[in-house]
Amino acid sequence: MTLKSGKNMSCGTLVNCAGPRAVETARMAGLYLPVEPRKRYTFIFDAQSPLECDLPLTIDPSGVHMRSEGSYYLAGCPPDDDPAVDYDDFTQDHTIWQEKVWPIIANRIPQFEAIKLVNSWAGHYAYNTFDQNAVIGPHHEVENFIFSNGFSGHGFQQSMAMGRGLSEIITYGTYRSIDLTPFAYKRIAEGKPFTEKAVI
Ligand SMILES: Cc1cc2nc3c(=O)[nH]c(=O)nc-3n(C[C@H](O)[C@H](O)[C@H](O)COP(=O)(O)OP(=O)(O)OC[C@H]3O[C@@H](n4cnc5c(N)ncnc54)[C@H](O)[C@@H]3O)c2cc1C
Repeated sequence: MTLKSGKNMSCGTLVNCAGPRAVETARMAGLYLPVEPRKRYTFIFDAQSPLECDLPLTIDPSGVHMRSEGSYYLAGCPPDDDPAVDYDDFTQDHTIWQEKVWPIIANRIPQFEAIKLVNSWAGHYAYNTFDQNAVIGPHHEVENFIFSNGFSGHGFQQSMAMGRGLSEIITYGTYRSIDLTPFAYKRIAEGKPFTEKAVI
């Protein structure tokens, strides 16, 4: 790894788990990774007339999604225009709430016409521009450089399996309980996408 100072560092095993900044970590080892930060917006709101039961994750075809969040509700969406953003850009865009999210959720659930926004934030997906899927396991040439990257917005739900698989690769040099080889970096080098379509 070459640090900003120009100093070179070596190690036994390196796991790149730098989230949206993963490309920077890969670059330190001279490796290319098609991952970039893409902004996603989250809004927490209170409903004047709450639903009678919890709302499970519900996804509108527009990409606007909503669910219960304790006594509140959570809604989110991608922006219509979805470019890579600066690593430190977490500015909120309230027109997205006003013009996109609220109209869509109120149309789908009438009780969500009378709601009050209580919190909101913007976060970054570590967006894999190649096939929107995780990149997991050792690089096929630099074998002690291990990827855990590019989750494209679904890394939390995959984390237990990915963590287990990576610990097996590091400990035994092979997957034992779950085969994660379809997620290997090699598919990028070979131009063979393993596309995940269910990305919001
Ligand atoms: C708005 C939003 C909603 C989401 N919803 C869901 C969902 O419903 N279900 C789901 O499964 N997933 C969801 N995700 C995705 C999920 O949050 C991520 O896939 C997951 O958090 C990725 O975990 P990670 O450990 O790979 O990366 P991160 O959680 O991003 O952690 C990376 C860490 O590396 C650190 N780091 C970076 N560079 C360096 C460096 N040079 N030196 C030291 N540290 C460094 C960062 O500070 C950070 O702490 C969502 C993401 C967003 C933004």
